[in-house]
Amino acid sequence: MASLNDRLSQLSPEQRQLLAKKLRQKQSHISPRPAGQKTILSFAQQRMWLLYRLDPDSEAYNFPCFLSFQGDLKIKVLERVLNEIVRRHEILRSRFPEVNGEPTVKIIDDFKLTLEPISLENLDRAEQQSRVQQLASQEAKNPFDITQDALIRGKILTLDDHQYVLLLTLHHIIFDGWSEGVFKQELESLYDAFSQGKPSPLPELSIQYADFAHWERQWLTTERAQTQLDYWSQKLAGMSPLLELPTDRPRPAIQTDKGDRVFWTLGKSTTENLRELSQKQDCTLFMTLMAAFQILLFRYSGQEDIAVGTPIASRIRPEIEGIIGYFANTLILRETLSDEMAFNDLVQQIKETALAAYNHQDIPFDRLVQKLQPTRNTSFSPLFQVVFALRPNNFTSDTRWQQLSLNPNTAKFDLEVNLREDDEELTGYWEYNTDLFNRDTIERMCKHFTVLLAGILKNPAMSISLLPLLTNAERHQLLIEWNNTATDYPKDKCIHELFGEQVSKTPDVIAVSYDKQSLSYCELNQEANQLAQYLQSIHAQANSRIGICLERSNSAIVAILGVLKVGCLYVPLDPHYPTERLQFMVDDAQISIILSNSQTQYAIDKLSINTSITSIVKIDRVVYSESQESLSLAVKSHQGAYINYTSGSTGVPKGVLVPHRGVIRLVRNTNYIDIRRGDRVGQAATLAFDMATLEIWGALLNGGSIIGIPKETLLDPWALAHTIQREHINVLVVPTAVLHKIAETDSTIFSTLKCLVFGGEAASPHWIKRILKHGAPQSLVNGYGPTENTAISSAYVVAEIAENATTVLIGKPISNSRCYVLDKNRELVPIGVPGELYVAGDGLANGYLFRPQASAEKFILHEWEKGNVERLYRTGDLVRYHADGNLEFVGRQDSQVKIRGFRIE
Ligand code: AMP
Ligand code: MG
Repeated sequence: MASLNDRLSQLSPEQRQLLAKKLRQKQSHISPRPAGQKTILSFAQQRMWLLYRLDPDSEAYNFPCFLSFQGDLKIKVLERVLNEIVRRHEILRSRFPEVNGEPTVKIIDDFKLTLEPISLENLDRAEQQSRVQQLASQEAKNPFDITQDALIRGKILTLDDHQYVLLLTLHHIIFDGWSEGVFKQELESLYDAFSQGKPSPLPELSIQYADFAHWERQWLTTERAQTQLDYWSQKLAGMSPLLELPTDRPRPAIQTDKGDRVFWTLGKSTTENLRELSQKQDCTLFMTLMAAFQILLFRYSGQEDIAVGTPIASRIRPEIEGIIGYFANTLILRETLSDEMAFNDLVQQIKETALAAYNHQDIPFDRLVQKLQPTRNTSFSPLFQVVFALRPNNFTSDTRWQQLSLNPNTAKFDLEVNLREDDEELTGYWEYNTDLFNRDTIERMCKHFTVLLAGILKNPAMSISLLPLLTNAERHQLLIEWNNTATDYPKDKCIHELFGEQVSKTPDVIAVSYDKQSLSYCELNQEANQLAQYLQSIHAQANSRIGICLERSNSAIVAILGVLKVGCLYVPLDPHYPTERLQFMVDDAQISIILSNSQTQYAIDKLSINTSITSIVKIDRVVYSESQESLSLAVKSHQGAYINYTSGSTGVPKGVLVPHRGVIRLVRNTNYIDIRRGDRVGQAATLAFDMATLEIWGALLNGGSIIGIPKETLLDPWALAHTIQREHINVLVVPTAVLHKIAETDSTIFSTLKCLVFGGEAASPHWIKRILKHGAPQSLVNGYGPTENTAISSAYVVAEIAENATTVLIGKPISNSRCYVLDKNRELVPIGVPGELYVAGDGLANGYLFRPQASAEKFILHEWEKGNVERLYRTGDLVRYHADGNLEFVGRQDSQVKIRGFRIE
């Protein structure tokens, strides 16, 4: 066969050497099966038969062989040619009936293939094209009944008297990629001969596919086979069952075969450079590409144990080279990758693995599956889910028969990259399961592969975790466009200054109302001024910390304002907290003054008073003789306004130093909420919880009213519903956990709200969907963020939840804030790939109080490029960007749950 020589010439020297060695080793020659022996299926055929029984309507194993012909075609001659090929190859006349539950082979001696003629001659060019596509895709989709149908069928389309299309469809159980080459070669020479009235120039075949199947059965009992099987058992031991690429949709419980293809080309010069690089590395182009592909998978999945399937023709015995049939086998190339590894190292490792795999390639994959018995899981293919293939071009260009490629819209695997070496370029397609991936995800993946290859060429010694993936456009989008959040807001003012401005605008509007008692803006301001004067009189030092141990009440609001007005920071001390916790905060923050009242004095009485405390003020006992005038102290907006303690669930609680500016950027001229004069904002959070920041300052810096909601009410949906109605509350902030509980009982109670913000932990799509359906507020907002970036970093206005959503998105960075998803090397990760969320912008806290080391660990200075340094906070949260710029929360670092292999170190 001439094309075998062509193919041999495309092998690298070491591949050829290997091949020769193998050929020498093969003493066991395949000969015709003994007459009278029952014809059996090969191993691969058997498994395909079982796959067929599982899903008889699947078209995934149809094998379209579509060819166009230029010239004067004699259809009758073509039919004779095809029938001669069918006569020569028994397999093309075989079908596989079930007998006693087992597959059997039935060969039909006198089977005649007839081509259905279809004339498209009276259509114009465009109509012809679309009709050809349509017929081709119908043909490719029409399933075979492999137990009784002929497994080859054909149509011949006439476009005009010198243009034809042959649509042949076969079932994979009788055909494979190499067969296509054999078939086409025979077609060419027979057509030439028959059309000139000559006899067939082809010698009769000495063996048939069934002889191979018979031989294979014997061979599998040999010691050589056992050695190979042992090799694979060892090589694949302990492999993780699934390569978890980040998918766009949750994996269906039962793997589907719906697919699509993205076409991909790598230009001449890069291809040439890759060939050169391969030569330098003393390996094949395939190995270089495989190494790059595994790096891509490693970077996408975060998994270090990567297994990729790669098809091989399995025609290394000369006696089966010219036989049509399903010989193709799949080898698994499994590699352990690690961050520090260089491409150079990996490619050598892959070379070793590949050579060993070629050396043990005779075991049919299906026998391997039988032997290894991987845990059966219907939702993905066993042993590997991703395939990478580099095929030599089957079709030389000087022929009149040209391959017509068609997207079959199926996918046998999660992802299958199928490349061809065209003369000078690499071209091919990335076939993906459409139940897992969106088209744009795979398109991006292709681009990343291109960038990665260029990166490898530039520096093959670079460690694989640092090689570039992103295009410049993507980098710009992730870094700049999606963080272009600046708005005009009073960033240089202080909270109490802005409050003062509001007092002049709306002196008589109700500012705060707890327990049916209210204070207007003017009254609140006067009381706060008095307290500030008093605090000054007892020598409150600017910038010192004042504890507020009060129930949520009008007085508490007066207290925090008074503290700000005297230039100090407030530290909420929830009187319901355990004494040790309160004691810890008092000591840790070196609180100088504590404001309490008769109601909460009990909590203070339990504390041991340390040296930092200078006064404990019962504010209901103080007789304010002081003036109601404002103090005029110079406080800057970057200075601290309050200290909020982290929960301490991951170590010692730390005091987060929140600046004025952080609060102002949270509530003024922002994109996720719009509070105005007349709005009535429920205040339900304990003051020690950062959501209280949004409630209190969201109202007071915008002319709204704070309406206190007792804790018991929040936890009782009916009471809450009643309070919302009675108090005309129209803005509400609730912890996600509480929202879930409420939705479980009554999901209608929020329908009158203008805005409902929830947050604090991952929300369940189930309950959120229910609220949307039964009583959606005008705006329903998922607010995400750590205290270290002042309550909210990103927000998602939930308009609808997709049917199969597993999470509620956390949206986009809020105004004057920025979000970056980075890997362990602090490089931007691509859209769709999980990484750690880093936040930045005007909400960033000034670090942890008195903890320079912890602050330096979590608040970092990051240099994006020379001279472009930004301060970032590492959230410890795993997130990923969606293509529309919304963030999805994937998990937390300290949850102990390992997500897709991603860990944050
Ligand atoms: P804290 O600093 O106590 O407010 O906790 C912040 C952490 O709570 C974040 O880092 C997230 O892990 C989690 N979190 C807050 N809001 C959300 C949200 N909307 N969705 C998912 N997780 C959230
Ligand atoms: Mg929070």
